[in-house]
Amino acid sequence: MKRVVLVTGAARGIGLETARAFLEDGWSVAMLDIDGAEQVAAADALAMPERVLPLTCDVADEAQVAAAFAAMGERFGRLDALVNNAGTASFATVTETSVADWRRILDVNLTGPFLCVQAAVPWMGQGGAVVNIASISGQRASTLRVAYGTSKAGLMHLTKQLAAELAGHGIRVNCVAPGPVETAMAKKVHSDAIRADYHDAIPLARYGLEREIANVILFLCSDKASYVTGETLAVDGGFAATGIGLPSLRQSEA
Ligand code: NAD
Repeated sequence: MKRVVLVTGAARGIGLETARAFLEDGWSVAMLDIDGAEQVAAADALAMPERVLPLTCDVADEAQVAAAFAAMGERFGRLDALVNNAGTASFATVTETSVADWRRILDVNLTGPFLCVQAAVPWMGQGGAVVNIASISGQRASTLRVAYGTSKAGLMHLTKQLAAELAGHGIRVNCVAPGPVETAMAKKVHSDAIRADYHDAIPLARYGLEREIANVILFLCSDKASYVTGETLAVDGGFAATGIGLPSLRQSEA
């Protein structure tokens, strides 16, 4: 029996590459996204209609989430893994962040995964896995990320809550905290100054690749990670591990 994964935010970026990685590993993939046109085009381009199901849904909307998971269940009849990847970002100072933006970011990035897990559990059996996609911005505070960083820190704690509760169902719950990855989201919120800051602060001195994130997600959903739960794994070129001194070290090596 083919294993089934549902990936949210799968129309592009890290989510689309994750869908591709699971397909290559033999899974069937439900691709859920708010942008119906972009995800249908992405699903068509994968050219595996027998193993791909596109679902249009806003993860922050309880009724839409329930309908999407019902459609997934009708098509595949089971769910082995859920990847809560859909996310939204808007970088602004605390005084410039509107309450509407604050609420939307928390709704999509934190309430969305909560709703999707609630909808997923009835379809999952022993050996199920959930992976939440947080961010280095949930681990370390940087300017302009008051809403985004707080939503991702909440998601990292939600991971632990869910791991504690769902272990009894045989479901593992983990989290990936990516560093910067060159996607549409990064293009929207990363100014030249932010890019220079990341270059200075990341030992590997580059942005990550979508596939480098997808590979870790696939690992955490696999039996190779069967004793890992409640964990957040940074995939960030060393950002979380290091303090000051990288630019001066690079200068002295030049
Ligand atoms: P992206 O903007 O390229 O893709 C995000 C996808 O999520 C889009 O297809 C979008 O339509 C979908 N989406 C947004 N809101 C949604 C909603 N309410 N319901 C359903 N789908 C929705 O972004 P990305 O860079 O690929 O980011 C994927 C995840 O990785 C996000 O959770 C993001 O916060 C996280 N992340 C990204 C970076 C980065 O540098 N790109 C770094 C750290 C963490």
